[in-house]
Amino acid sequence: MASAKNFFTTGRNIIAIGRNFSEHAKELGNAVPTSPFYFLKPTSSYLANGGIVEIPKGCEVHHEIELAVVIGKTGRDIKKEDAMNHIAGYALAIDMTARNVQNEAKKKGLPWSTAKGFDTFTPISDFIPKERISDPSNVNLWLKVNDVYRQNGNTKDMIFNVPSLVEYVSSIMKLETGDVMLTGTPKGVGQIVNGDVITCGLRVGSDDKDLVNMRFDVKDRQNSSYSFK
Ligand code: MG
Repeated sequence: MASAKNFFTTGRNIIAIGRNFSEHAKELGNAVPTSPFYFLKPTSSYLANGGIVEIPKGCEVHHEIELAVVIGKTGRDIKKEDAMNHIAGYALAIDMTARNVQNEAKKKGLPWSTAKGFDTFTPISDFIPKERISDPSNVNLWLKVNDVYRQNGNTKDMIFNVPSLVEYVSSIMKLETGDVMLTGTPKGVGQIVNGDVITCGLRVGSDDKDLVNMRFDVKDRQNSSYSFK
């Protein structure tokens, strides 16, 4: 049965918000949005802490550290005032992106499913009960590659906060127990390559200790029948 706690195996949708931090939108040369937008990622792209992130052949893969919201109660047309009642908790996630594949898709007006949907492209932590994060608008997210900071941001800089995102997405599609919403990445995205080590963590407000952290090795995908040209 679907539950928020075991979203990794029973959740059906990953909803990923794009360009929700203005400094990140600008670093990729995109306009800052005036209304939220999202795309879907397959749940087959989940990767548990400690796993290996695969680089498909020819792909320039970027890390995007994000706060994940885990839905606990199914609903549609959820008002932002009621959003917290539908949220069971959170997780720390990386929205891996084959940037060169995405750039070509943008140019041709094609979907992003390939760029965002490869296996291992959604590394994600265990479930964090919502009581552990009192304010989703004050969460520090950091990511290092080979022990060097790449991203270190705070969810207070989101353009659309978590309740507004729940209201927006649920006005289009129902949000079901176990669904995960990735809420956008702060600035500092960059490439990872074979041999890199990614570490990342999530810290609440002014705490001086991470609530969760994760580590991933990066390897070229073996016997890849896909190749980006
Ligand atoms: Mg993203």
